[in-house]
Amino acid sequence: MLVKEEEILKTYFGYETFRPGQKETIEHILKLENTLAVMPTGGGKSLCYQIPGLSRNGTAIIISPLISLMKDQVDSLNSLGIPAAYINSSLTAAEQQDTLAGIAAGEYKFVYVAPERFESGRFVQVIRNIPLSLVAFDEAHCISQWGHDFRPSYRSIISNLKQLSNIPVFVALTATATEEVIGDIQSLLRMDHVVNTGFERENLSFHLIKGRDRSSYIRSFLEEHPEESGIIYAATRKQTDSLYAQLSSRGVPVAKYHGGLSEEERKEAQTAFIHDEKPVMIATNAFGMGIDKSNVRYVIHYAMPMNIESYYQEAGRAGRDGEPSDCILLFSPQDIQLQKFLIEQSMMEDEAKQLEYRKLQAMINYCHTHGCLTSFILDYFHDDASRETCGRCSNCVERQEKTDLTTEAQMILSCVKRMGERFGVGMTAKVLKGSGDKKLKEFGLKSLTTYGILSAYTERELTEWIHFLIAEQLLDTEEGRFPILKLNRNSVDVLKGNRKVEMFTAPIPSSDEADYQ
Ligand code: ADP
Repeated sequence: MLVKEEEILKTYFGYETFRPGQKETIEHILKLENTLAVMPTGGGKSLCYQIPGLSRNGTAIIISPLISLMKDQVDSLNSLGIPAAYINSSLTAAEQQDTLAGIAAGEYKFVYVAPERFESGRFVQVIRNIPLSLVAFDEAHCISQWGHDFRPSYRSIISNLKQLSNIPVFVALTATATEEVIGDIQSLLRMDHVVNTGFERENLSFHLIKGRDRSSYIRSFLEEHPEESGIIYAATRKQTDSLYAQLSSRGVPVAKYHGGLSEEERKEAQTAFIHDEKPVMIATNAFGMGIDKSNVRYVIHYAMPMNIESYYQEAGRAGRDGEPSDCILLFSPQDIQLQKFLIEQSMMEDEAKQLEYRKLQAMINYCHTHGCLTSFILDYFHDDASRETCGRCSNCVERQEKTDLTTEAQMILSCVKRMGERFGVGMTAKVLKGSGDKKLKEFGLKSLTTYGILSAYTERELTEWIHFLIAEQLLDTEEGRFPILKLNRNSVDVLKGNRKVEMFTAPIPSSDEADYQ
């Protein structure tokens, strides 16, 4: 099987063997079965439609929300001698006309377009009248409102497309799809098959750093890795500017990128980064979509992102060449407040906000789990390929010795119960500490038997422990801006002494860190 396609793999692309999932996807497409391919970044999704596109007659239409990537894709196909074009708003009206004429004449094997193109009657008219080999949706998670990057224009074209009678097969591709997103894509595009290779990228090592001054961490990290290319994601433009100023004044070859810069400045920064003239990029999450730089050795998040989907996508820009690379998240408790503020400020409907809060909670849990970080992420994506712990992440490497914390956990859980399961993490930590905060008196919490029951610990430590219990699902939170703590079945097991609670003796953040104040 696939003799011709293996030939194409070798002669056009110069590769000997297919990567996981590629062959299966290609086989389905050639049988004209609509197929969704879920593969990690760098997994080789493009070949999944490029090979059938070359093998079949007609033109392949690739719909992509990433205008910046289209030119690169087209250039690289052209350099392999494959006729390809893109048509988007970056072309002049005359260029668009020329390209359309070329498409109408069937000159191209591949045409890349943005979803908005389907709003133009002219374009639809042209592709209606030529033989098509397939239609592919790149970054297909943008179709789903469960996705982290929902584009309404993406969804609205589906009904237009379905009216075209000359589309033999639909292909959808994505690197970030939760079960809900996969379900959505499947039903919207009537997929016959899902080829899911899993998400694990064995060359990435995840690290979680807490309780360190972040700027000094980054400075020493860069001193230790002077020759390497990496991306540092800041949470805001302001943070990006200030980090950029700090590092460039120290002579680090750094570029910066955020939505507040002009298009020209952004382009310049991006080019300098890609060509390794400035191998370190400091940016907000505006940077990265469609950046295909293979030798990124590390991605550092200066602050916690808003959800695991964005985190995995951004962190996943490291190591596209398959070489070992690091993904480092610098966590500080105040990040939680910032993300909540951003959700609260957004124009989303209430229901959408609740969903964002739920996703944020998973991100917070990631920052507090004592289990394997890689497994945590893969579990989140319901990637249930059987696996042990990764042995590479900071939790696997550093957290060796466990301490029995069952008694303390019981005290915390019974305090939640005595507080009537009506309060959040902060208030509970205060009661356990025996804080003099006036609010405790107002709410009548000072008279509880659990008031001050863990006064030997700092409020910071107690907060950390409560988050740990949530992350380990020994305690629930009600969704919302101020999540209320609730006991669950596991909590009852712990309270009854039927379940042990163990914590790794990793250092708990000390309170003297400048960043935390
Ligand atoms: P994705 O879109 O999944 O992030 P790409 O399609 O850009 O990934 O592929 C990532 C890199 O892997 C590209 O440089 C591509 O040429 C290379 N690649 C794809 N398939 C193979 C293969 N079968 N063997 C070797 N390299 C491959």
